[in-house]
Amino acid sequence: MNQEQVFWERVLQLAKDNLKQSAFDFFVSDARLLEVSGNTARIFLDSPFKKLFWEENLKGVIITAGFEIYNEQITVIYEFSPASSSPSQSRANSERRHYAQELNSSPVSPPITPFIHPDIKPQYTFTNFVQGDNNQWAKAAALAVSDNLGGLYNPLFIFGGPGLGKTHLLNAIGNKVLEDNPNARIKYLSSETFINDFLEHLRLNDMDNFKKTYRNLDLLLIDDIQSLRNKASTQEEFFHTFNALHENSKQIVLTSDRNPDYLDNLEERLVTRFKWGLTSEITPPDFETRIAILRNKCQEYPYEFTDDTLTYLAGQFNSNVRDLEGALKDIHLLATMRKLTEITVDVAAEAIRSRKQTNPQNMLVSIEKIQNEVGNFYGVSQKEIKGAKRVQNIVHARQVAMYLARELTDNSLPKIGKEFGGRDHTTVMHAYNKIKSLLVEDDSLEIELTTIRNKIR
Ligand code: ADP
Ligand code: MG
Repeated sequence: MNQEQVFWERVLQLAKDNLKQSAFDFFVSDARLLEVSGNTARIFLDSPFKKLFWEENLKGVIITAGFEIYNEQITVIYEFSPASSSPSQSRANSERRHYAQELNSSPVSPPITPFIHPDIKPQYTFTNFVQGDNNQWAKAAALAVSDNLGGLYNPLFIFGGPGLGKTHLLNAIGNKVLEDNPNARIKYLSSETFINDFLEHLRLNDMDNFKKTYRNLDLLLIDDIQSLRNKASTQEEFFHTFNALHENSKQIVLTSDRNPDYLDNLEERLVTRFKWGLTSEITPPDFETRIAILRNKCQEYPYEFTDDTLTYLAGQFNSNVRDLEGALKDIHLLATMRKLTEITVDVAAEAIRSRKQTNPQNMLVSIEKIQNEVGNFYGVSQKEIKGAKRVQNIVHARQVAMYLARELTDNSLPKIGKEFGGRDHTTVMHAYNKIKSLLVEDDSLEIELTTIRNKIR
C-alpha cells in the first residue's frame, strides 16, 4: 500500500469509528481520495451537498490521519462530479430528499483514479493469489465472474476451511471489477456486518434506505455466509436482497466455511438459491503450493530466505495459509531484533517454536519415528530403511520415508540424508520427486501415505 492508500484507509477507519453506520454509508462510503499533494488532499464527493457534512464532522478525522501518516496538517479540497448541481440552499432540510433522488438518478460521471473503495482491500488481488491444485477452480470461477458480472455463474459460492483464501478471492473480484469499471456499484461485507446493518436500519425504522443500498448494486460480495444461520429475520431480508439482485442479473458471490448442503439452520429456500450458480471448493494447499505461497510472500521481507528454510516452513504448517503468513511474521520479528540478513532453517525453527506449540496439528515429528512407522507399514525394519539394500520394497519404503521426512519434519535435506545412512541431499530430493510423481497417478499410494501420516501424528 502506498502512503496515500494508508492515509485514506485511516480516514475511513476513523470515520467509521466516529459516525453511525448509516451516516458513514451515506456520506462517506462513496467518497474517493484523488490524491495527496504537498499538504493538500483532493477528495471526490459524488454530490456537493455532502461537503458540508465533511467539513463539520470529519475535519478532525482528516487532521488526525494527516498527522499520523504525513506528520503534517492536511487540508482538503473537495471535488464533485461535473454532473451534479450546485449545493441546495436549505441543505439540512433537504438531505433526505436529495438522497432519495440521488439513488434514482443516473450514475455520476467517473471519479478519477486512483481511488480506494471503502470496503475492498486493495492488497488482495488475483495477481498475488498463488494458484495451486487446491484453489485453481475457485480462482478460475472468480476470474470468470469478474469478467462477466451476472452472467453464467450467479451466484458463485466458494467454500473451504479457515485461512484458505476465500476472503482474498472475494476482494480480488472486487478489485478486478473496479479496475475494469471504476463506477461499478460494489459492496463487500461479512454476513456479520450485514446482520448488524440490517438490525441497525430496522431499529432506526430506516428499511427503505437499507433496501436501496443493497438492491442497487452491480456486485454483492458476502463473506462467511454461515453466520446467517439461526438469524431468521436477517435471512428473510437477505432472501429478498438476493432475489432482487438475481432477477436483475446482478452478480452475487458468497463464501462459507462449509458446503451449502451442511448449512443447517439456514432456510432451505436460501440454500437452494446458493446452489443455482456455481459452487467451488478450496482445499488446503499441498506441499508445493505452500512453498510457492511462501516464496511469493517472503518477497515482502528484506532478507534472503534459503530454499531449505522455505521447504522447512512448508513442512511445518499444512492446513492453513494464515499460519504460513504468521510464521513469516514471527521470523520477521526475530530477524529485526537480531538484525539478520539471511534466514536459515535454524532461525526459522526458533522463530516459529511457540506458534507450533499452540497448534497441536503441527507437533514435532522425528525422522526416526517416520522411519519406524513407514517400516511397520511396509514390513521393513528401520535398519533396512537406513541401509543400502536395493530390493524393491525396501527402496520404496525408504523413498516414502524420505518424502515424509521432508514433508513433516524440521530438518534440512542434508540432515535428512544423514539420518538415512549418510546419503547425499540429492538422493533425498530424488526420492521426494519420485514419490510425488507416483502420487499423481496412484490414488492408492495417497491412501497409504495418509494412513502412515495418521500413525506418525
Ligand atoms: P479465509 O477467508 O478463507 O479464511 P483469507 O482469504 O483471509 O482466508 O486468507 C488468509 C491469508 O492467507 C490472507 O492473508 C491471504 O492473502 C492469504 N492467502 C490465502 N490463500 C492464498 C493464496 N493462494 N495465495 C496467496 N495468499 C493467500
Ligand atoms: Mg475470510
